[in-house]
Amino acid sequence: MQSKLPKVRTTIFTVMSKMAQDYGAINLSQGFPDFDCPARLRELVTQHLNDRKNQYPPMAGIPSLRQQIANKVKEYYGCDANTETEVTITSGATEALFDAVHAVVTTGDEVIVFDPAYDSYEPAVQLAGGKTIHVPLTLPDYGMDWDRLEQAINSRTRLIIINSPHNPCGSILNKVDFDKLAALIRGHDILILSDEVYEHMVFDGVKHESVLGHAELRTKSFAVFSFGKTYHATGWKLAYCIAPEALTTEFRKIHQYVTFTTSSFVQHAIADFMAECPEHTRELPDFYEKKRDTFCNLLAPSRFRFLASKSTYFQLVDYSAISDKSDVEFANYLTQEKGVAAIPLAPFYEVPPTTKIIRFCFCKDDSTLQQAAKILCAL
Ligand code: PMP
Ligand code: GLN
Repeated sequence: MQSKLPKVRTTIFTVMSKMAQDYGAINLSQGFPDFDCPARLRELVTQHLNDRKNQYPPMAGIPSLRQQIANKVKEYYGCDANTETEVTITSGATEALFDAVHAVVTTGDEVIVFDPAYDSYEPAVQLAGGKTIHVPLTLPDYGMDWDRLEQAINSRTRLIIINSPHNPCGSILNKVDFDKLAALIRGHDILILSDEVYEHMVFDGVKHESVLGHAELRTKSFAVFSFGKTYHATGWKLAYCIAPEALTTEFRKIHQYVTFTTSSFVQHAIADFMAECPEHTRELPDFYEKKRDTFCNLLAPSRFRFLASKSTYFQLVDYSAISDKSDVEFANYLTQEKGVAAIPLAPFYEVPPTTKIIRFCFCKDDSTLQQAAKILCAL
């Protein structure tokens, strides 16, 4: 049988987490916390489960959660989102990204992504019959290369996928970047898919800029967010997409046949938690900035070289003073022989990079970070 995705292998996150488990390594690879989500949130989930909220919720998500989301994006981004026509709850951001791509991309369309790019974008584009055009981010700061982007845009370009805060690099787009992007696509029939799942993990006093807060981009964008990141509950697979009505109509046509709807009691619990505990999201940047600082301070005496991450819960490090291996080889070696698992960057690229950089995840208990750093500082 001919594969529809001949180049796709099991995701690097699954591969490295399994390797960590098989070799008993400390897992700083796949992005998930090793601490629990808030106790009150677990209490609410249990309450709604026992309250028999166990049948199909509405296709677009329960009204109270959509209302909480609308309140939130108004507060954070000054965005008025219509809960009936513009907000859709999905089973993880992964589903939302897939639905958005399939809502608008068809055979022969081109979709621009920026390398290193999160691994789920390209397969979604290919399955929709589209072609992915890879534009590299600039080194060493992983910023936008506006000239390369302009050159990549043509009449076949249908969608541009942006990711800020950026996984794996931690770089962020600001208002000036959004103005430039808006100017570049003005007059073209091009839409934006904005992956903002790390919206509440931006550090050093910088504010996250959402496409929802940009008047022009807002009218052309699908904006995707994930409760998994924000509430330390990646396993619940709950996320949402906000897009103008015409885009949401097409988005829901895909959503209703991919999953139809999403876990009922979790939706109820998160809606209540958002209303009860708005301070959770306000405190999150600080919480993760402290984790970043802890990890960076612990790694300071090591031979890794790095600039502190600006956002997300990932830290890139250059290991060229330690080894000549490729990033995949080095991540395997570190996991299997040294007992700390990391993510190589090669799977995020069309053409594997020559840089010697790997990604560590620091959303871990301080004791986990200390144990890992002890090993890493001895390399
Ligand atoms: N986009 C990015 C950039 C991610 O890092 C992730 C997951 N870590 C996702 C999307 C998918 O999020 P979810 O777990 O909600 O499907
Ligand atoms: N996005 C997570 C990461 O970057 C992993 C998600 C997954 O395993 N699919 O580590």
